[in-house]
Amino acid sequence: MFEKEYDVIVVGGGHAGAEATAAAANMGSSTLLVTMNLQTIGQMSCNPAMGGIAKGQIVREIDALGGYSGIITDKSAIQFKMLNKSKGPAMWSPRAQNDRMRFAEEWRMALENTPNADFYQEMVTGLLVEKDKVVGVRTSLGIEIRSKAVVLTNGTFLNGLIHIGEKQFGGGRAGEKAATGITEQLVELGFDSGRMKTGTPPRVDGRSLDYDKMIPQPGDDRPEKFSYLNTPVLKVQRDCHMTHTSALVHDLLREGFDRSPMFNGRIQSIGPRYCPSIEDKINRFADKDAHQIFVEPEGWNTVEVYVNGFSTSLPEDVQYKALKSVKGFERVKFFRPGYAIEYDYFPPTQLKHTLETKLVNNLYFAGQINGTTGYEEAASQGLMAGINAHLKINEKEPFVLKRDEAYIGVLVDDLITKGTEEPYRMFTSRAEYRTLLRQDNADLRLTPKGYEIGLAKEERLIRMEEKQEKSRHFVDFFKKTSFDPEEMNPILESVDSASVRQSDKLFKVFSRPKVTMDHMLQLESVSGFVKEHDLDTEVMEQAEIEVKYSGYIEKEKNNADKLHRLENVRIPDNFDYAKLKSLSFEAREKLESIRPVTISQASRISGVSPADISVLLVYLGR
Ligand code: FAD
Repeated sequence: MFEKEYDVIVVGGGHAGAEATAAAANMGSSTLLVTMNLQTIGQMSCNPAMGGIAKGQIVREIDALGGYSGIITDKSAIQFKMLNKSKGPAMWSPRAQNDRMRFAEEWRMALENTPNADFYQEMVTGLLVEKDKVVGVRTSLGIEIRSKAVVLTNGTFLNGLIHIGEKQFGGGRAGEKAATGITEQLVELGFDSGRMKTGTPPRVDGRSLDYDKMIPQPGDDRPEKFSYLNTPVLKVQRDCHMTHTSALVHDLLREGFDRSPMFNGRIQSIGPRYCPSIEDKINRFADKDAHQIFVEPEGWNTVEVYVNGFSTSLPEDVQYKALKSVKGFERVKFFRPGYAIEYDYFPPTQLKHTLETKLVNNLYFAGQINGTTGYEEAASQGLMAGINAHLKINEKEPFVLKRDEAYIGVLVDDLITKGTEEPYRMFTSRAEYRTLLRQDNADLRLTPKGYEIGLAKEERLIRMEEKQEKSRHFVDFFKKTSFDPEEMNPILESVDSASVRQSDKLFKVFSRPKVTMDHMLQLESVSGFVKEHDLDTEVMEQAEIEVKYSGYIEKEKNNADKLHRLENVRIPDNFDYAKLKSLSFEAREKLESIRPVTISQASRISGVSPADISVLLVYLGR
């Protein structure tokens, strides 16, 4: 059945697996996606939304490199919001509400239209490993399929165990089988594995809700989009709604606590700190008698609704009774109860920066299997693993993004350097250089790199270069052009900014805190320039940020340059830490197990102090 040897086999068609398949295939590798159910490629297991704080930046980075998540999100969006617009641009984060079914359908169509991508539906139960190198996979029917590299993206499926109240059953997601065999084999090969948990809220029938009792949450008046390509912008959007729990709801939920797997010891593993279940919230914040609930439609043409903020593994009768007491939910009908799931993961310190495992050559891990949570985190790892699998089998240089180049770089470096004991999600605070890593400039940062490795198409590069050229030209215009104080002062007065006397350059006034592009456009010279050069909102936004944040951007660039100096001090592969007696015991142990590639990476390992770094630098002759 499978006579030929594939270049790359990707196991699992979730967000990580779909991006890995697209990347490897688009770069020219013959790629086989083996997944348990071809109907659930790109399935959103939990909330029907993409992006959000820091995650939105990741989606834009995936897009800039030539991945598909941004395009799929735009094609299936039902609402768009730019979060944090009242804060500085480093914090702006795009978020879309999606049609769950259309999202998965768009993924399937995109992959089917990708040359070099083949598909096969079955469970992979083992890996073919010869002399420390993976050479293929074995399926539950006993079929052996050979390949030069394998990317594992099993998500929450490895020995998945679902909990609803006192009931427990095996499953990778509600209604789907758990995957077995892989963990056991990897542990035998010497890998460490652990257990994590996550949970999801009930889904309900939108026709049974009273929206008049809730607060509408519309999308942006001028919705934007994720992809830098020419994808559609929403013309019509669907509203979400907001309601909240109450002291009564909390009391009703508490009645089920003795039957909760979270509290009676059945669930031992750690869940996502920033996506707590409703029972967790009530317990941890006992003084709060209300928590927000966002009521999110699941698509254009379905009445199913996602109850965001009410994730729970309490018994289904408790979930139902409590939800009926939430304002607007008095007549609620359930489609699916909430549940929690426990699954195996592999501590990611067992990986290299390319996401290849240290123990088995040409074997890559990406997504939730690495202890992360979230579609965006998974998709970006899939993309990086797919790219690196292709590069390795073609004997090309690995593709690694630095911490000042992309959130994806921060994510991978955090995972493999620090590891994680609880589900890892991205935050802007994890990035040291967040003024550099903005959602508006992901194309400028990454498209040339994506093009260079053969993933991003020329069309992307041309669009990016045009945007860069136009915004540079516009910034230069602000630097060179003077203004008439009589035209400028009424504008400044309107924002309580001090008036100006002699004509200075526009750049200086535009740099003032309350002065925005909209104010600048009131000047004839500026609006004339925009018209003459046919500048769109993307270019204007780019130029505005470059002018207003030039000081911060410069400072972060200088700091990043300092880091690069340490990044250039490489530590030999087989470095013997045992002989450096002046290293602390903890540092020696951690350095030996993580084996950092550079001094800079060593300095980010928890337990390795600046004193340890000095010892290493002296030894390495620096
Ligand atoms: P998945 O999307 O899980 O995809 C795994 C794929 O691998 C599936 O297609 C599966 O069929 C396939 N597969 C697995 N094993 C095999 C095998 N042996 N052979 C063949 N195919 C295989 N994220 C959040 O950010 N916040 C949350 O609150 C949250 N809650 C969640 C609640 C639940 C109940 C679940 C299930 C997930 C939740 N998530 C949450 C996580 C989010 O869904 C994942 O982070 C994301 O989907 C991970 O993507 P992935 O590609 O790694 O894995």
